[in-house]
Amino acid sequence: MSVLNETTKPGAWGPKEKEEWFARQTIQRSYEQDVVRRLKALPSDTLKLVQYGALSCDPKKYPLYYVRSAEWNDDNPTVLITGGVHGYEPSGIMGALRFLEEVAPQYTGKVNFVVYPCVSPLAYEINHRWNRRAEDPNRHFMQGTTVEESAKLMNSVESLGKHFKVAVDLHETNKRDIELTQERHARDGDKASPDDFIIPEGFYLCVPKQEDVALGHKIVEAVSKVTPICKDEKILGYPSNNGIIVLDDVPGLCQGFTRQLADVSMTTEIYPDKSPAREAQDAQLATVKRAIAFALKR
Ligand SMILES: [Zn+2]
Repeated sequence: MSVLNETTKPGAWGPKEKEEWFARQTIQRSYEQDVVRRLKALPSDTLKLVQYGALSCDPKKYPLYYVRSAEWNDDNPTVLITGGVHGYEPSGIMGALRFLEEVAPQYTGKVNFVVYPCVSPLAYEINHRWNRRAEDPNRHFMQGTTVEESAKLMNSVESLGKHFKVAVDLHETNKRDIELTQERHARDGDKASPDDFIIPEGFYLCVPKQEDVALGHKIVEAVSKVTPICKDEKILGYPSNNGIIVLDDVPGLCQGFTRQLADVSMTTEIYPDKSPAREAQDAQLATVKRAIAFALKR
């Protein structure tokens, strides 16, 4: 979880190595087919599709969208959901889409939703953690950031001018993290550590503040009905409280940004390699549903 430090360490990649990295990537799936098509098929009487920008590397191919409740009532609680901050973690993106298709209609008139289903669409297509410039958006949610996926999301969320009851950022921790962590070390001129090779088996939840752990326990209880919870005593080197870790020392996380605008925020982490893709998505949905129940004071 080290913060990237691109220029100061000897051996760290410069612009040339980053271009070489991108040249090695291949398009493995279609954002248009898998995501945009489904967003455009949502019922416009209940869900409003809004474009909040586009990636500068190919604005036509990578328009950025969020979906909000068409019927908005400021007296109702508002819930923020983000998926695809890491494009290679598909259960977050597919979970957000299934949420819009299957779950959101049940709450029309009761809860306001804002859903960003795929924050980093190029990364979705190349099946990687990084964007076009070999940057990890989920370390750059900070004021003045030059990472465009992060900056555009922050600008869009802030421009809504809303306060959120709860914010959920949908992620997963899959086996590729072992390989991608080594690539990150190469980029940053860092050395590998033994922790790099441990992938937590099961669901775990990251929260930005100790106060958010109480809701975390309810989320874990709900998710345990659909997928196993990680039982490790330590996760990513942090003490685990029944599958919940407090990440209050990692700058630039999406959950840290959204927490400034929300009563509670969290990041889901699902281990998808041992369970069917559908189960990982179900765990994302279980998290969101329990978070909505919290927003409705249930
Ligand atoms: Zn992630």
